[in-house]
Parts: sequence; C-alpha cells; structure tokens
Amino acid sequence: MSVLEKLTSKDAIALEEKYGAHNYHPLPVVLSKGEGVYVWDVEGKKYYDFLSAYSAVNQGHCHPKIVNAMIRQAQTLTLTSRAFYNDMLGKFEKLAAETFGYSKLLPMNTGAEAVETAIKICRKWAYEKKGVPENQAQIVVCENNFHGRTTTIISFSNDSVAHNNYGPYTEGFIKIEYDNLNALKEVLEGNKNIAGFLVEPIQGEAGVFVPSEGYLAKAKELCKMHNVLFIADEVQTGIARTGKLLATCGNCNCPEKHCSGTPEVKPDILILGKALSGGAYPISGVLANDEIMDVITPGSHGSTFGGNPVAAAVGIAALEVVKDEGLAENAFQLGEIFREELNKFIPKCNIVNAVRGKGLLNAILINDSEDSSTAWDICMALKENGLLAKPTHGNIIRFAPPLVMNKEQLMECVGIIIKTLKKFEK
Ligand code: PLP
Repeated sequence: MSVLEKLTSKDAIALEEKYGAHNYHPLPVVLSKGEGVYVWDVEGKKYYDFLSAYSAVNQGHCHPKIVNAMIRQAQTLTLTSRAFYNDMLGKFEKLAAETFGYSKLLPMNTGAEAVETAIKICRKWAYEKKGVPENQAQIVVCENNFHGRTTTIISFSNDSVAHNNYGPYTEGFIKIEYDNLNALKEVLEGNKNIAGFLVEPIQGEAGVFVPSEGYLAKAKELCKMHNVLFIADEVQTGIARTGKLLATCGNCNCPEKHCSGTPEVKPDILILGKALSGGAYPISGVLANDEIMDVITPGSHGSTFGGNPVAAAVGIAALEVVKDEGLAENAFQLGEIFREELNKFIPKCNIVNAVRGKGLLNAILINDSEDSSTAWDICMALKENGLLAKPTHGNIIRFAPPLVMNKEQLMECVGIIIKTLKKFEK
C-alpha cells in the first residue's frame, strides 16, 4: 500500500480500526486536505473546521508562509540534535522570548512534554533557590485539569479514563478546586514546601470553563506572597486563541490593544505548545526569566528533537503570522460576535443552556444529561451540514475555529450551528 494510494472514508476508518490502538474516538470523517478555515474529506466534501486540532491550527490549515518555511528548512537541514548548535534555534528563541516577554525559551515538542519540563524546572527551583528540603516539593494543581497524558501528568488528573489503572502514580501534587482563591490561600498558608501553582487560564478540555474575573491576577498575587511559582499552561489558550496573545496577558510585549489596561498576570513560568507551530509540526516550549531558567544546566533536561532547525523555522513563521495578520484582534472581535449571536438564539430555544468562552475558544452547554449522546449526535448533524466540532465532556460542545476566519464565514457558521440545533429542539 503506497502513500499515494487513494482510500475511501470507509477503507481509511477500517484500517485505523484494525491496525491502530483505539486511544481516540473520532467523528467518522476522514480528512485529506486543509486550507485556511476549511478541511475536505476524501470524497471531496468541504467543512468548516471548528476544532482547529484542539487550537493548534490557529493560523489556519497549511498557511503558505509556515509551509514554505518548513519546506525550505526541510530541504536544508532537519536535525542536528542539541549536541551541536544550529543556525535557526537562536533566532526562534529570541523571537519567542521577546514576543512573550521572558529571558529564555526551553524548546520541546509536545504540550505534555512542556508541562513536564515546567514541573521539573519548578521542582529544581524549589530545591536550589527556595530551599525546600530534598524530595519535599509540592505543586498545587486544579481539579478537572487537563495538562496532557504522561504518567506524571495523569497522576494528578481526576478524569478517571485518563487516570485509572496507570498507577503507581507520581507524588508531589496537591489538588484544589479551580477558580477558588480561598482554597489556594489555605493550601499556600498551610505548607512551606509548595513550589508552584500550575493552572490553565481557561480550562479547555473540562468544557471551556472561564474562571471569575480577577481570579488569575489574585492567584498570582498569592503565589508571589508565598514565594511560589505561578505556572500558566497556555498550551490551548495561548497564541491569540482567546482574543489576546496570551489568556494571561498583561505584562508581555504583546502588540494587541486588548492587552492594555488588563491587570498584570505574568506567569513565572509560561507553557506553550500547539499553535506555536500553527499545527504544522510538534513544537512546544517553556518560557521563564533567568533567575528561574538558570536552574537548567547541561544534561539536566533535553530532547533529541526539541529545538530542531525545522521546528525553529516553523515556529518563527508561525509567530510572525499571528502578529502580521492581527489574529488576536480578529479572535477578540469574532468571539464577541459569536457569543452575541448565540445569546440571541439561546433564550428562544430549549436545546442549549448557555454559551461561554473568550475570543474564539467557546463552548455551548447542551440541555441534556452529561451521559446522554445528544452532544455527540449534534456534532454528527453539524458534520452533515458542513461543520466539524466535537464534544469536550458529556454535554458540552467546544467551538474553536482557526483564527484566520472572517466575519462573513463566521456568520455562515453561526447559521449552520443554529439550523442544526433547531433540529434537536425538544
Ligand atoms: N495542556 C493543555 C492545556 C492542553 O489542552 C493540552 C492538550 O490538549 C496539553 C497540555 C497537552 O498537549 P499535547 O497533546 O500536545 O501533549
């Protein structure tokens, strides 16, 4: 079977079913092409992509600037490992550091690896700078978090499917309720060995749960007061998705006007992934200032592919696209319109309880029990109507299109969504 052989949807699904591990439950659609906000299935049907590969494709599918950077670099030099320098990585590190306002970037590949990296930096900082006794460092995390799927990360997940039967679990994590400052205050006051607080600025996988206004700023303040590192996992919310360059924006060097006036919530450690490459390549990274990042010394952390020349070239192009095309501003404007339009429909219907989100990271809450199949059935109907989305948890459907969408396209999508939802009215 050659790479060039054309498959029908049925054949492609059958192959994955037979030869692939069943670690996902995809919608039955087989995609073979993408451009901007659109994807096409192997039979040629065109869809609006309202998932963007879980917010990795913020810059749109196959963005020519990103693809060209990748091709050029792939034809020149792909991998050296970090045993040698390459002439691309420093340029990427400089752009990332300056864009997000930190002294240094530690490049990795996947989001989970970047979270693991942040955990390691935080623990090392606790022993070497804060003076926490050996092996006593604790990191505070939130209930219903999603930070990836490695053994350490799933150790502190309360999603039973991700967690159960993978023990023995990694120690050193204390779980508190999300969006609960008292819980954070209590845990910080009661334990001198807390090294960090790891938090998603919006809990994406949990169902686009937006915390109360001021939660992040106050959480950061509490962390500062107790000499605890505030670690933001912006793997999903970062890089313009929520209408700002970062959901924690405040004190970065971000050119977006929606950053001005927001309170300073600058994480001590910032975790990025997904859209750092525009979905073209697995690129992730951790940013921090020197007094934290200098705990990392040769041999103490690394990855063969992390910071490879292709990743660096792609990463530079991907960040340039976000800035040049004003994607944060566009996400902000379109997000306002999206929620406004759905909020006009919701009071007149009995199938959706609410819409919530920021920028172009939104979700609707379906009026049915969490274990019903209604959200899935709606996604199947949306697919028939030319729009691809997926339930996050139970009865919640996430809507996260590429940020290169224009208003006309968005309005067409709102039309498709409302028309589809109307069919499910009870
Ligand atoms: N952190 C957050 C907030 C995420 O949403 C995700 C993935 O969805 C990850 C980490 C893990 O990223 P990856 O799947 O690239 O390992």
